[in-house]
Amino acid sequence: MIPQVTQRLGSILASFTHHRQLLISQIVDHCRGNQCLLCADTSVNECLCPPCSADLAWLSETCHRCALPHEGDDICHYCDDDFGPDHTLAVFAYQFPVNALMAEFKYRALMAVTDLFAARLNDLALSSSLPDFIVAVPMHHQRLRQRGYNPALLLAKQVAKRLHVPLLTNALVRQHDGQQQKSLSAEQRLINLQNAFAWQGPSLQGRHIAIIDDVMTTGATAQVISKLLRQAGAVSVSAWVIARTLPS
Ligand SMILES: [Zn+2]
Ligand SMILES: [Zn+2]
Repeated sequence: MIPQVTQRLGSILASFTHHRQLLISQIVDHCRGNQCLLCADTSVNECLCPPCSADLAWLSETCHRCALPHEGDDICHYCDDDFGPDHTLAVFAYQFPVNALMAEFKYRALMAVTDLFAARLNDLALSSSLPDFIVAVPMHHQRLRQRGYNPALLLAKQVAKRLHVPLLTNALVRQHDGQQQKSLSAEQRLINLQNAFAWQGPSLQGRHIAIIDDVMTTGATAQVISKLLRQAGAVSVSAWVIARTLPS
């Protein structure tokens, strides 16, 4: 068999394996549906019992632009006009146990956690003006093949359905993966993300767009994507995330 065909078959089989793992994870997930993931006590309809849910690091008073803790109507001293999105909504601070739940969501596709995150993001979004369209932060196709799914897209699908807002899929694309962002500073992240994304969707003239992602760390990804969406005509960009990393 010629090498290209063998390679292609290999990647198709790898993709099937990941999808099978996803399916198994969802079945197991379903079977353990009535037990709190954090304390193993009984939970009804959700994967956390009410006391564990109440103990999560909920964000309440936040800067409307960057979602860091802040009191008052003005923007905080961490963000400025170049921050990117006009408005950011974040449900939780990115700390224990939200980071542990996030790992279940991102690396095991635990559907009960996806449902919980989507429901809370939906609740928060209802407190603000709804966008014309939703987009998910895309993953590079190589990484997508390795993992089998894009967590941000899983979330965006659920939130878009709950809010009855159209989700634009395949419009925002990731052109290169770049270096892993985790260990980079805010400035390095911005450089790393130069030309990482491209807009291949319709004109967004006069539209309000919400970008959905799992975690906002420095805001560099949202900044780069906001710029692209504005170039496509968007007049307003919101970033909606499950968790916000707080400055140390
Ligand atoms: Zn519990
Ligand atoms: Zn701010």
